Amino acid sequence: MDNRSRLILTILGVIVFVGYQYFSAEKFTNPETGKSARVALSESQEARLGLASYQKVLSESRVLKSGPEHDRVLRIAKRLADATGEAGSKFQWAVSVVDSKQVNAFCLPGGKIVVYTGILPVAENDAQLATVMGHEMAHAIARHGSQRMLQTKLANAAITGAQLGTMGLEQQREILAVIGAGAQYGVILPFSRDHENEADYMGLLYMARAGYDPQESVNFWKRMARVGGGQKPPEFASTHPSDETRVRRLTEAMPKALDIYRKSPLRGQP
Ligand SMILES: [Zn+2]
Repeated sequence: MDNRSRLILTILGVIVFVGYQYFSAEKFTNPETGKSARVALSESQEARLGLASYQKVLSESRVLKSGPEHDRVLRIAKRLADATGEAGSKFQWAVSVVDSKQVNAFCLPGGKIVVYTGILPVAENDAQLATVMGHEMAHAIARHGSQRMLQTKLANAAITGAQLGTMGLEQQREILAVIGAGAQYGVILPFSRDHENEADYMGLLYMARAGYDPQESVNFWKRMARVGGGQKPPEFASTHPSDETRVRRLTEAMPKALDIYRKSPLRGQP
């Protein structure tokens, strides 16, 4: 077989191999956007992983057990969790407030939320705190971690496939470059931005249903962008859309969110 045929055969093999892995993965439909995606883990696997990470984080942190900050976060989490509806009812929600300067908050798969006290002063009011908590809870509901895990698995499968091909080093590099470039610019990066946009949109709906003014989301993200002069926490660092893009997208979804907010029986409640 000549080099060219071998190259084509290897590429075909990789496509079949990766395609099989993709189509045998579990399919998931986002309850808020109706978009479907494939995920690496089952819901129960996610919940187990989420719980294990949660316990690890808590065992290594100073967790607040009471006080106004603790009560504030728990109150908001409860209202947001109720606002996630049927999708969130499958979760065993739990929330902890960690005494730390870190400007951060996250929600692990299965609904385990951690809020660092460092982010509390960034939120001027409950609606702004609900913005970031709703965004993080949306990542968990949308199973973004499990989706990202599948992408990594597929990228690894592609690389392994290319390496298995019986080709010369130069062709191996050629294929890996194609796949690498694809993984970097074609699949993984835009996907992450998609996840961020999706979490923003879902979070906006959650806060509106929970009776928090969705317009405060714009104020919160603007404040967040100014925090630390570019020293943003990991979750917000690289993949988050530029602030203008974020504000534009939020503004697009605002009429719908405002409509939900005006009808929310929780509006105006402390
Ligand atoms: Zn995010």
